[in-house]
Amino acid sequence: MEIIIEMQLLFKCPVQNQDFFTASWIVSGRLKQVESLSGQKSLHGRIEAHCPFCEEAHGFSPDELACPFGNSTHI
Ligand SMILES: [Zn+2]
Repeated sequence: MEIIIEMQLLFKCPVQNQDFFTASWIVSGRLKQVESLSGQKSLHGRIEAHCPFCEEAHGFSPDELACPFGNSTHI
């Protein structure tokens, strides 16, 4: 199941190493909150965003995003 949310997020193209904002991203599969032994919470899952530089989709982990889910920072 894919969840589509209209929200711009900041991604970094792994090919051209450039930042870009896009609302063209989807959560691929499920996001899962994982708590480490030290009590630090993080999200595991996969997000796919359309890259304007490569004209194709890249996969990202939620940890890689500058504005991760669960954070109170909104654009
Ligand atoms: Zn790219």
